[in-house]
Amino acid sequence: MSHAAVTPPYFATVRSAGDRPAQGKNAKAKTARTRRSSGGAPRGFGGERKEPRWQCVQGCGACCKLEKGTAFPTPEEIFQDPSDVQLYRSLIGPDGWCIHYDKTSRTCSIYSDRPYFCRVEPEIFQRLYGIDKKRFNKEACSCCRDMIKSVYGSRSEELESFDRAIKSASSS
Ligand code: SF4
Ligand code: SF4
Repeated sequence: MSHAAVTPPYFATVRSAGDRPAQGKNAKAKTARTRRSSGGAPRGFGGERKEPRWQCVQGCGACCKLEKGTAFPTPEEIFQDPSDVQLYRSLIGPDGWCIHYDKTSRTCSIYSDRPYFCRVEPEIFQRLYGIDKKRFNKEACSCCRDMIKSVYGSRSEELESFDRAIKSASSS
């Protein structure tokens, strides 16, 4: 497995200012779907909508910024198990980034041993957010876009690079 792509924690989902804190699994699922990116699925020939195919891109790392700010759900709102909250919080460095994130290479230094919640997989999305596996690709793409915008900006090279990768993966 590639070491370069970090594919980390996904509480990436931006929460709109008007949202109340979510409680319980269903509420989390609602939170996870709040305020989606406007990017949407790429269009194929003839204008038909194609389902995006999620993939992580090298040189991003946006989701390893663990202190995500008030627009995102807190770990307490995401996790039901207090030990997950504790683990998540123990990873946050003084600058808000994960202590295992190598900023120079933009990679995870414990990639093969990273916590389960750092794994962007349909099962994890279902478990944490109650998102149906059929919706995984779409939701994962939206999560990435939200996080990249939050960390690097909505006109960033990182966002362009992500959109290009998804477009290419989705049309192949
Ligand atoms: S935000 Fe998405 S593309 Fe960027 S490192 Fe995280 S999983 Fe990969
Ligand atoms: S352990 Fe840290 S650096 Fe590694 S994927 Fe998770 S958040 Fe990112």
